Amino acid sequence: MSTPSKIRTRIAPSPTGFLHLGTARTALYSWAFARHFGGEFVLRIEDTDVARSTQDSVDQILAAMRWLGLDYDEGPIYQMQRLDRYLAVIEQMIAAGTAYRCYCTPEELDAMKAGQEARGEKRRYDGTWRPAPGKVLPPVPADVKPVVRFANPVDGVVTWDDLVKGPISIANEEIDDLIILRPDGVPTYNFAVVVDDWDMAITHVFRGDEHINNTPWQINIFEALKAPLPRFGHCPIILGDDGLKLSKRRGAVSVTAYEEGGYLPEAMLNYLARLGWSHGDHELFTREQVVQWFDGTHLAKSPAQWDPAKLAWVNAQYLKQADDARLATLVAQQFARRGLTVAADERLAARCALFKDRCSTTVELADWLAMYEAPVTPPADELAAQTTDTVRTALAALRERLATVAWDKAAISQAIKDTIGEHKLKMPQLAIPVRLLVCGRAQTPSIDAVLALFDRETVLARLAA
Ligand code: GLU
Repeated sequence: MSTPSKIRTRIAPSPTGFLHLGTARTALYSWAFARHFGGEFVLRIEDTDVARSTQDSVDQILAAMRWLGLDYDEGPIYQMQRLDRYLAVIEQMIAAGTAYRCYCTPEELDAMKAGQEARGEKRRYDGTWRPAPGKVLPPVPADVKPVVRFANPVDGVVTWDDLVKGPISIANEEIDDLIILRPDGVPTYNFAVVVDDWDMAITHVFRGDEHINNTPWQINIFEALKAPLPRFGHCPIILGDDGLKLSKRRGAVSVTAYEEGGYLPEAMLNYLARLGWSHGDHELFTREQVVQWFDGTHLAKSPAQWDPAKLAWVNAQYLKQADDARLATLVAQQFARRGLTVAADERLAARCALFKDRCSTTVELADWLAMYEAPVTPPADELAAQTTDTVRTALAALRERLATVAWDKAAISQAIKDTIGEHKLKMPQLAIPVRLLVCGRAQTPSIDAVLALFDRETVLARLAA
């Protein structure tokens, strides 16, 4: 791929909700591409939809970017703080004849549309206010606030070599004279995005393929402004595991929901990177490897499917290797969400170390470790089936031993062995009821290790029950 001297990419979310997974993925690709080529990555907040943009959404987007570790070199730049610049460019375009004021009222536009529909024509602006050599425009009505429209070229074809999809062509006759400035003085997306990408010297635009139909307008506006064109790469949408478009109704679509759901940011970054991009047959890679390998090639042309099971698997791999003190902090946060205050201390870290191998998320880890924090309810029928008279006597004997032994794994193990020897039981005959009583479940890691991480008093009280 031939590359300009300074690669500059950007992500330009609209702050009308949380950071969507699709946007997070294009942010990641834009970030990795800039980092790979030693370029720069810009965060721009496209807040021109004033009615729907909120500060809360901006905060969520920034938090999600921070969580994923997508650091930016410039920004956040807010479009609403650049209105003067857009208006100046609009005036230049009007002077140059590449844009014009249109005074059509909504009623006139509706009538235009109805007429076109009745005649079976394509709906489009009919060019009433578009200047042309020798054309006499209607008298300017005093009471109508105009919009500004872009004078789109009438013929020819817009073509670009998409970084993801390859060559794409759209004929200009398919494209209307787009409104670029609303009557309230706020520019529309397709115009502001071009001025920004130009001013911010963006060289490569990665975004979702729902914007493919916008790109010809944008290219035409770039050309009208004699601004250098960036390269465009349109990534296919992400599908849910049911093959339909990923949406709120089909499970979590926000990055934040996965943070809360107990996923690690490095796992999320890994999974998002791999969703729509590949490097050989690697499934697990660090952020450094993403930067090293991501050069804008090997991007998938067809939609990727969100696979919760695979994400869980990826997360489990990272959880196994994660530092235990860090896991303790994350699990303490999970407990806090459940209303439990638990210190992220060494003991919690030791518990994380013992259980992390069998968990896919810190939510599951907290599920396991809840037995250390709150009373358990042993399943009554299972317990009844396990506790014969001999077992009952052995449990009492074990409890007595545990009351006095040193409180560590080796001593607990010895106490259990002595007890089963004395009562001629097999290990599971004693270990399972102990698990049921103390942990509330029949399966755990090695029981001596599990017990050693409880307070002695808790174990004695639960065995007595
Ligand atoms: N605000 C647009 C969006 O969130 C940005 C699209 C673009 O990257 O050009 O979809």
